[in-house]
Amino acid sequence: MRRFLWPMLALFVSCCSTAPVTAAPLDTGGRMVAISLDDGPWSPGDRTGKLLDVLRDEGVVATFCLVGEMVDIPYGRSMVQRMQKEGHELCNHTYTHPILTQGNIARQIASTDAAIERALGVDNYKTVILRAPQGNTKYLRDKQCYGGRPFVGWGSHGDSDDYRFSGAHVLQVANRLPAGEILLLHDMHETPERLREIIHELKVRGMTFVHASALWVNPCGSHMANN
Ligand SMILES: [Zn+2]
Repeated sequence: MRRFLWPMLALFVSCCSTAPVTAAPLDTGGRMVAISLDDGPWSPGDRTGKLLDVLRDEGVVATFCLVGEMVDIPYGRSMVQRMQKEGHELCNHTYTHPILTQGNIARQIASTDAAIERALGVDNYKTVILRAPQGNTKYLRDKQCYGGRPFVGWGSHGDSDDYRFSGAHVLQVANRLPAGEILLLHDMHETPERLREIIHELKVRGMTFVHASALWVNPCGSHMANN
């Protein structure tokens, strides 16, 4: 049942922003942006698979902040394998998407690492970055890092609010995204058509697309090896 509960719960608790973990962008003078897609993976046939098709066709990389129990669904594993193969960044977004606390964080992060490890068939795989559900780390002692890895949020102009607003609003946020910022989107709310439109608009503005970790100051002393 858990597998079927999560998508329903996600409708209510998944997204979205209170306040993101804050950090200054590394390079506001460049024309780089990052697209992050949270709360998947979803199925190959409609959601995630179609979004990956758009990214492939557009020659764009993105960052997928993965929920561990979604990775453990058989099609989830195949989606994670494809993400890695096609050069996207993987990000640990906890196992069941709770608000993180000192009591649950170790299990949430380790279980998701293990799920991604199983999906990729790689021992000791760890994502370079983490993202807290709702960007909320206020109950944690260290609000920026866990186990030497940074919690990566999104830009102050990068929250699309795609879980509650129309496509027009999401496009407006994407079209105004400043260089150097990370855009927050969600697998379950994004359509292939809109993602393509977002990418086209950003390309028209001369943006290039990088992993989220490339636009985040890492306060944890770890190496951002994905970039
Ligand atoms: Zn989320």
